[in-house]
Amino acid sequence: MAYAITQSCCTDAACVSACPVNCIHPTPDEPDFAATDMLHVDPAACIDCGACADACPVDAVLPVDQLSGPDAVYAERNRRYFADAPPDNSWASPRFPRSLPASVPAPRIAVVGTGPAAGYTVQALLRCTDAEISLIDRHPVPGGLIRFGVAPDHPATKRIGDSFAMTYRHPRVRMHLGVEVGRTISHADLLGHHHAVVYATGADGTRTLDIPGEDLPGSIAATDFLAWCNGLSRMPPNAIDLSAQRAVVVGTGNVALDAARLLLADREELATTDIPEHALAALRGSTVSEVVLLGRRGPAHAAYTPSEFLGLTQRTDLRTVLDGHAEVADEIATADQRSPAALLRELPVEGVDWTAPPPADKRLVLRFHSTPIAACGGNRVHTLRVSDRDTGARDIPADLLIRSIGSRGLPIPGLPFDPHTGVIPHRAGRVSPGTYVVGWAKRGATGGIGANRACATETVDTLLDDAVAGRLHTPDGSARAFARLVRHASRQGHRG
Ligand code: NAP
Repeated sequence: MAYAITQSCCTDAACVSACPVNCIHPTPDEPDFAATDMLHVDPAACIDCGACADACPVDAVLPVDQLSGPDAVYAERNRRYFADAPPDNSWASPRFPRSLPASVPAPRIAVVGTGPAAGYTVQALLRCTDAEISLIDRHPVPGGLIRFGVAPDHPATKRIGDSFAMTYRHPRVRMHLGVEVGRTISHADLLGHHHAVVYATGADGTRTLDIPGEDLPGSIAATDFLAWCNGLSRMPPNAIDLSAQRAVVVGTGNVALDAARLLLADREELATTDIPEHALAALRGSTVSEVVLLGRRGPAHAAYTPSEFLGLTQRTDLRTVLDGHAEVADEIATADQRSPAALLRELPVEGVDWTAPPPADKRLVLRFHSTPIAACGGNRVHTLRVSDRDTGARDIPADLLIRSIGSRGLPIPGLPFDPHTGVIPHRAGRVSPGTYVVGWAKRGATGGIGANRACATETVDTLLDDAVAGRLHTPDGSARAFARLVRHASRQGHRG
């Protein structure tokens, strides 16, 4: 009996390092690793030791005979990954973690942000160096996207926060919460008190559709909806009105699936999660019975990952259909097995009558080749007008519009910023000697939680190169002086 990896896989590859027979693939050294949404256990080589399950930070690895419900498909999904090409289970050359030579004095390093990119960075710094770390976040609670971005019905994914939280109590880590760089303190303040500063500030800006009516009440960003479902204080309990029958979610990425899944969630299952009372009560009272997921391109360009998509379509309390025409059906039928379109093959194709009210039973409609051109309504959105490849303009009646079209980084005063890509320009994580960047602020808003592990390793390696070469700052102020500065600045309000 082997183990299998299931839906909540975060791809941070902690299991790969733990496996004594190297039977988990793709490994970070293999070409498929960058594009995969999950790792797989080779059942023919697995020796059933369970080391991978112990190492997994999100409890995604389970013995095959314990797979049940929606997880049952993962025995076959793990097996099928190896069906065409038997894996090479031999070991690659070993790679040893970098460390600082004893001749380099322990640096003081500020890490700005407490999301997954910061979490992996702090872990790497604590493992490889004797650095003292100031961990800074503008929110009064740590966790970043794990706390406020991961959907509350994905508790296994949120569990990775536990491994990062262990570093908060480390004797060489000091947390400063409710402190915003560029408002409470400045980049210069950080450089004045640390040898190096690492920005792990993510991508907090929302992209805009740039269509008329986008700002009408009833039109919200998916990231705001998820933040509200996670109790972020800037989203008050009454911020979102769910008295709609049909919601349109624009975009086909994983965040769009999160929003659609939560809107159509089984309320009693949601009640078992840590969703805040106000969001649970609003979802319980919600009248939304239909969600339309809108892709501006065809199904081959859908942005969801297979495991997230299967998690939604396997639900038995929800009918998922394709609103399609012959062309979409053809695209799906002829799609390569690895294309996101291939996952749609089992779905019924239905011509949805948009003039009729949505059905009373929960339905998810996937509609492709439809670009939003206007949100219409008086006091609130009541229709989304789309430009449809087949029929020209078409009106989709909907009282809730959720824009899930990706995120982008925001500039930080005192740091360079590329307004086109929304990232902080860098080379292998170095913005300039002493200033570094990691995660979505470095790569743009792509990739799941685990992608930050390799990203953090690269940035920390660069920082260590600079430390060894003597290129880091020599701070004027001590750690104690920094704590005093932060306390004072927090009391005073804002600094530039
Ligand atoms: P995303 O994957 O980049 O998807 C953005 C979607 O918005 C795409 O379908 C895109 O279509 C569409 N879009 C962009 N501009 C548009 C416009 N003007 N009009 C209409 N549609 C537009 O972004 P995301 O969903 O925010 O996810 C960000 C990253 O986080 C992804 O890598 C995702 O996998 C990851 N994530 C992972 C998980 C998980 O693993 N469970 C959960 C959440 C997020 P085009 O392709 O045509 O541009």
